[in-house]
Amino acid sequence: MKRRIIMLGAPGSGKGTWSKIISDARKLTHIATGDLFRRELAAETPLGLEVKSYMERGALVPDELTIRLVEKALTGENAALGFVLDGFPRTIPQAEALEAILAKHGWKIDAVVDLAIEEDVLIGRTLARLVCSGCGQPYNAVSMQPAVEGVCDRCGGEVVRRGDDTEETIKKRMETYHANTAPLIDYYRERDLLVTFSNEGPPNEETRDLLFAIIDGDKR
Ligand SMILES: [Zn+2]
Repeated sequence: MKRRIIMLGAPGSGKGTWSKIISDARKLTHIATGDLFRRELAAETPLGLEVKSYMERGALVPDELTIRLVEKALTGENAALGFVLDGFPRTIPQAEALEAILAKHGWKIDAVVDLAIEEDVLIGRTLARLVCSGCGQPYNAVSMQPAVEGVCDRCGGEVVRRGDDTEETIKKRMETYHANTAPLIDYYRERDLLVTFSNEGPPNEETRDLLFAIIDGDKR
């Protein structure tokens, strides 16, 4: 049973959704760096305030800070039962730091899942994302429309396309992602941990079974 898993995937690849499916099915802790940031910020912890100072300046949160945040999450007792890392590591220094943190606990990563998706599929899927301008409820023009087109089911607000989702910004995000992640793919391939899962369709029973078979090493 694989218990320590890293999920790699471009923005919009379904990484968050699949991380949740795996962690629910295997009773693992889902550690998403985005959630960690939000939690620390909301609780105004010293770490959170440090993160905030970078975000307020529009600067990137440095690796060192992200690493401390993840280390804190991995030290929690829930992580001892296994975890799915979603959004970390993003760089080689982060991957090396992770190895050092795990070594302190005597742990090793079991599998690194690369969620592969064709660029045009990802662009189509991302462009279909909608959001309520009132309450932030997400919708999707293809798979999850509100009952009345353009009107939020929850608050009656206007449902619009996400402003940051244009073909140009998506392509830009993909480029940045690939530039940063390509070395990581090699890093984990060399360690014989990398498995590739083609995520072209929505999650269903069949794709779930396939992913679990891949993680467990049956289909490598
Ligand atoms: Zn709403």
